[in-house]
Amino acid sequence: MSRCLACITCLALLGVAQQTAAAGESDKHQDLFVTANVQFTLCHELTHALIYAFDVPVLGREEDAADQISAICFLHPTHENRRDPQAVEKLVAVADAWRLEWELDKDSGDTAYWDEHALDIQRYYYVVCVLYGSDPLRFENLPDQLGLPWQRAWSCADYEYEQIVKAGKWLLETYGVARDPATNPRAGKVRVVYAIPGENKQRAYSILKASALFERKAELMNATFDLPYDIAIVATDCLGEATAYWRQDRREVVFCYDLVERFDLLAKLRRCILGSHTGPANRRPMDPARIRQCLAGIR
Ligand SMILES: [Zn+2]
Repeated sequence: MSRCLACITCLALLGVAQQTAAAGESDKHQDLFVTANVQFTLCHELTHALIYAFDVPVLGREEDAADQISAICFLHPTHENRRDPQAVEKLVAVADAWRLEWELDKDSGDTAYWDEHALDIQRYYYVVCVLYGSDPLRFENLPDQLGLPWQRAWSCADYEYEQIVKAGKWLLETYGVARDPATNPRAGKVRVVYAIPGENKQRAYSILKASALFERKAELMNATFDLPYDIAIVATDCLGEATAYWRQDRREVVFCYDLVERFDLLAKLRRCILGSHTGPANRRPMDPARIRQCLAGIR
């Protein structure tokens, strides 16, 4: 449900980095990082919504299932034969976000081993696993480039990716409908609501509005599923809680502007660590010492 919340200390340090970062750093890599992570999180929460709407049986952890469906959303965004040309870059950005969250959290003493979610570092490996398993020949260097041990990479290529695709297809074939939405006006609809934020959340609000991600995903959901009830995607100010979650009682995906801000900060941190080498090839390691330097605002 919720994304791992960062420790207060880390947020404070990131605030320092933000203040000292050069102006105008919001380049296309940074924008892509933020929107890719918004997209992943939204797909994750909408998977929860589908599981509850259709009472889908879940084998294993629901959170893992939601991550899996989210990952293949990038690889099969609309049609099986029409892949997002930026899918690889986006999935690497999503993986990097989990990696950074882990690096920021692992020494805090507050790592939630008990949580319903996998650890952030496991979510990192999972995203890389899905990407590698999707085309082991094309991505033959990816495990070495992104540090995915071959013991895991082999199972990604052997069966893990196929299992995820099978689950996604089953979801579509069982609950998706190929029809004109106008023929069933009683079907529930997904709508998008933006709570107008205060001045301090205007940037996050603008990023979401400009991306139109919520609207596009709502449109796709409405064209694909006959939902038993209406669902809302609500963007709102969560007063410092960088999270998103599904509220079954209100049938809402709550998406906090604070989480968008968090992705924005992680994007700056990644840029500081990796420079322009954000792709899998020739990337710098996410060295803890370098992370500390970047957190302190040293580029
Ligand atoms: Zn979840």
